[in-house]
Amino acid sequence: MNIETKANVGDIVYYLKRISRVNCSVCAGTGKIHLGTAIMPNAESPDAFAASLSEQFMQNLTEMIIGNVREYDCPECGGKGTVKATGQSRYEVGKGTVVSIEATMNQGHEKVIYRVTDSTSATNRTLTDEKLYLDQEAAEKQCRFMNLERRVVPLECVQIPPRFAKTIPCNEKLVNRLNEWRSHRKFETEIYVDENLNLFDGYTSYLVYRMLGIFDIPVVIWPEDARK
Ligand SMILES: [Zn+2]
Repeated sequence: MNIETKANVGDIVYYLKRISRVNCSVCAGTGKIHLGTAIMPNAESPDAFAASLSEQFMQNLTEMIIGNVREYDCPECGGKGTVKATGQSRYEVGKGTVVSIEATMNQGHEKVIYRVTDSTSATNRTLTDEKLYLDQEAAEKQCRFMNLERRVVPLECVQIPPRFAKTIPCNEKLVNRLNEWRSHRKFETEIYVDENLNLFDGYTSYLVYRMLGIFDIPVVIWPEDARK
């Protein structure tokens, strides 16, 4: 059996990796916090305050140097320096080497699976054709797209440019959207807006949301200067 593969064993490939942990904001990623003597305000006169401030500051600095300032594991991240990423999934581009390729049959179609060793971690990944890029720039482009801000906004805040408002989408498109809605409660075509919520793509999805009487709709914010 001869199968066309996108990459060969030994090839360098690129892919998107979900960022699961981010730097802790409390300890700035160090995993440690320091508790020393707080600087005491002194309101006698601005000059006196300024003088005592530098005095106190020197005192603090000395304590820090001689070790009076105690170091603790950061309570936010438990000393790890990173916390679990929350909110919208973010991605980065990973780089790895193909170590093996397998072909399986999936519902009568051949499916090619690549086993890839990640260059920055000891883990192996399995990737399919559509998740694998030979070109780093293509992977980075897709990564930027995936990392665009996705937000739910009131439908009435989305601005429809006249060139859309004048058109009537064909029935077939609307029927397709309705079918997507019935089976997934969302549309395959996302609604794209610029930073001022001017719609530039996904108009039929927008129309169907309006027909369904949905007030808050998901949009992808894609600023114009980031689209080039
Ligand atoms: Zn921390």
